[in-house]
This record gives sequence, structure tokens and C-alpha cells, in this order.
Amino acid sequence: MANPFQEIRNNQQFYFENTLRKSSLFERKQKLKKVKKWIKGNESHIIKALYDDFRKSPEEVRIAEIKPVISEINDALKNLRDWAAPQRVKTPLYLLGSKSHIILQPKGLNLIIAPWNFPFNLTIGPLISAIAAGNCAVLKPSELTPNCEQLIVRMIIELFPPEEITVITGGVEETTQLLELAWDHIFFTGSPQVGKIVMKAASNHLTPVTLELGGKNPVIVDNTANLKDTAQKLIWGKLINNGQSCVSPNYVLVHSKIKAKLIIELKKAFTKMYGQTKEEVQSNNELTRVVNKHHFKRITSLIDKSIEQGANVIIGNEINSDDNYISPTILDNITTSSAIFKDEIFGPVLPLIDFQLLDDATSIINKEEAPLALYIFSSSKKNTKNIIRNTSAGTTAINETTIQFIHGNLPFGGNGHSGIGRSHGKYGFTAFSNERAILKQLRGFTTIKLIYPPTNKFKRFIIRFMTWRM
Ligand code: NAD
Repeated sequence: MANPFQEIRNNQQFYFENTLRKSSLFERKQKLKKVKKWIKGNESHIIKALYDDFRKSPEEVRIAEIKPVISEINDALKNLRDWAAPQRVKTPLYLLGSKSHIILQPKGLNLIIAPWNFPFNLTIGPLISAIAAGNCAVLKPSELTPNCEQLIVRMIIELFPPEEITVITGGVEETTQLLELAWDHIFFTGSPQVGKIVMKAASNHLTPVTLELGGKNPVIVDNTANLKDTAQKLIWGKLINNGQSCVSPNYVLVHSKIKAKLIIELKKAFTKMYGQTKEEVQSNNELTRVVNKHHFKRITSLIDKSIEQGANVIIGNEINSDDNYISPTILDNITTSSAIFKDEIFGPVLPLIDFQLLDDATSIINKEEAPLALYIFSSSKKNTKNIIRNTSAGTTAINETTIQFIHGNLPFGGNGHSGIGRSHGKYGFTAFSNERAILKQLRGFTTIKLIYPPTNKFKRFIIRFMTWRM
């Protein structure tokens, strides 16, 4: 059976070859300005769509869905000329006479597949990089946040012809069909499990991929940490989007000496931010809901199993299945065998595991796949340096969580199981560009003529000289 998306792809290819390939930086900037204007004019619609999908608060939508996209646009508008400028490179002695540089050209046809947790930001954010780099794109937003999906459909119809940018809605079936086609780049954000499917499909056409994946982000709190500050930052970082964030702290390795004090501070920070009583917490509009029943059951079952295995509930574990509500939950007495430790939690649960030696903490981390984010809370430069040197992660924040994601000058991405490639700002622009190497030789001259066949004694000498200090 013919692929239902083949024609869309072919139309984009025609448009890219005949129109977009020749587009100027000025034209790209005009498109980015158009997108910015649309977002500003539709802010209330974006906020409503995300509230309807999973009760995301207007404040969170502004900070974590709209602001990062606007920042991407502003960054590109400011820096596009620099990013796209040809980069001169030095000439090695043996190529004397030639001159070389690198140009960044648009890759062409791009498939952008997005998850549900930041459904606007993670669909439109990569699109900004793709537009800045001069590309066509097919967007596949998540089917699990249908209001945002429909908003993105309307947005793209209003802004672009389908042969330049279009949206395909749907789930596994549609994504599988899209992945059968040949693209010039696939930018996927989602789980490592589906990341493997994407990479396998991409290999059929040798398509380059950016995989922005997830995983279990560890936190180390050592015995020198400022515990009040640590607790506030952990509660905030954990409860953005109700823990449904790829950079959410997944488990806390806490020095046994200061664990009791950290627990006191965590309780204080939580009640200050989200309410004193169960009722206050449940009715707090700043707590997003778990996205659907499937994830609600998955998370509650992980909590229940962990309690059966000996976990203590420090706060939370109030549920309401009508509303997919799980109150923010902190679990103590967790070990690496606990159910809650096994996978990325992606929900409002923070497990605490104690350690005595820093080496024990880093060895727990190193037995797992390399995380997307590692967080260190410490006042000791020596401990911080040791932790960084002895572990591996896509990103790391010291005495902070989460905000490395919104720093436009830092590359964002994982390491192996947590991702391949980098996004944001210049790094996103480069992901959607082909770095083309250009070498220009003088007419009638090349040092390489000195070694053209047939070889003789003099040429052998030259070759030995050229390879002498390799
Ligand atoms: P997911 O992998 O289930 O889905 C992502 C996309 O893939 C969706 O558009 C979905 O329709 C599609 N998809 C799902 N199953 C598929 C299949 N079998 N074949 C083809 N396509 C399929 O991820 P999710 O549940 O939407 O998002 C949560 C995951 O994403 C978490 O692991 C989280 O850590 C990760 N994430 C990573 C980042 C990052 O920037 N690194 C950001 C957000 C989320």
C-alpha cells in the first residue's frame, strides 16, 4: 500500500529544491517574526489548550512553553547572521596555496516528532531552529495532548504553505508511516524506547537523527549542602509540570548525616509553595495533573510496590483517580531494588536514597544509563569536581535544578541512552544544517602535484617528509 504521506514529502522536496534552497537570511528572519507575532497574539489560546489537556497553569505555560520558544526566536533573530556566516579554517603547510572554509546549508526535509509533556515548546522550539536554518519541516505533535495538537495544526495552517511546513496528527501508526519515508534529518523528542524505533527506521535511509530522550536524573546532596536552599530548589524542580519533565530530579542521593534535616526542609518548602492541608494542595491550580489514566496507574502502582518493599511516605500519596491526581509524594527508605528506582518516574514522586561515601553515590549513578541531567547540591568545590569527573551526563547543574534547559547558550541534549545530538540556539541551528567543507585551490597549482605518479626518488623523499612527524 502506498504511504499516505509520500505526496506531502514529495511536495516539500519540490518546494525545497525550487524555492527554499535559495531563500535569504532576511526571508528566514521574516518567517521567525511571523511566528513570534502569532504566538503573542494567541497566548490565551495556548494557555487554554494546555489547561484543557492536563490542567497546566497559565504561569507554567508562560514560563515553560511560551517563553523558551520566544527566546529561541529572539536568539535566532539576533545571531542568525553569525551562525550562518562562512567559517574560515587555517591551511595546513602541506596544502599551501589553498584556502578553505565551512558553510552551513539547510539540510532540506525534516521530520520533527514531539512528546506530550511540553507539547507546544517541544514541537515549536525545534521548528524555530529548522526555520532559522532554512528548512522545510513536517511536525508530528503528541496525540496525548489533543488540544495543543489542534492548536499547532491551526497555527501552522495560518502561517505556512503545507509544502513548506505542515503538521501530521496521530499516534504510533502515523508516526510509523512517516518514519518509513526518506528525510534529511529526524529530530525526535521522547522516550528512549521510541528513540530506538526512530533510530532503526532512520538507518534504512541513513538519515541523521537528533534524539532528545529521557532517563533517571540523579541528585546528589552532600553533607556540605545548604539544606534550606536545596529543599526549595528540589521541590520547585520536581513539581514543574508535576514531575513530567525530562530534566526533573528523578531520585535524590542524600548523605545519611543530613537526611533528617533535609526532610524537615523539604516539608517546609513544599507547604510554603503548595499549601498546608491536603485540600489546599489538591485545589492548588499550580499543580498540573498527570496526563492520562495510563500514567496515573503506572505511577500509583510504582508508589504502592515501593511501600510494600519498605518505603516510608514522608509527604503525599493522596490520590483521586477521577482527576488523575497524585499529590506530590516524597518516599524515604528507598534502595536501588525499589520499584520506584527502576525507571524514569515522570510524575510527582521524589525518592530519597542515603549514602555515606561520595564514591558510593557516584557508583549508584554509574551503574545506570548516563542521565540527561545530573544535579549536585554541595558547598564543597572538591566534592563537586569529584562528582563531575567520576560521572557522565548530558547536562549538569550545581546547586540548581532544571534551568540549564532554558539557557540559550548551553547545548541541550543527552549522552547515549538519554540522547544523541544537541539542540537550542546555535546548536539547534547546526543540527538542522549541513556543515559543508569548501576548499579552493589556486588555478594551475597544487602542492600535491609534487607527489603525482609516477613515483621517483625525489617524490619518495617528499612523501617521507610529509609523513615524517605523523
Ligand atoms: P514517547 O516516546 O512515548 O512519544 C514521543 C512521540 O513518539 C509521540 O509523538 C508519539 O506519538 C510517538 N510514538 C510513540 N510510540 C511510538 C512508536 N511505537 N512508534 C513510533 N512513534 C511513536 O514519549 P512521551 O511519553 O510523549 O514523552 C515522555 C518521554 O519523553 C520521557 O521519557 C521524557 O524524558 C522524554 N522527553 C525528553 C525531552 C528532552 O528534551 N530530552 C523532553 C521531553 C520529554
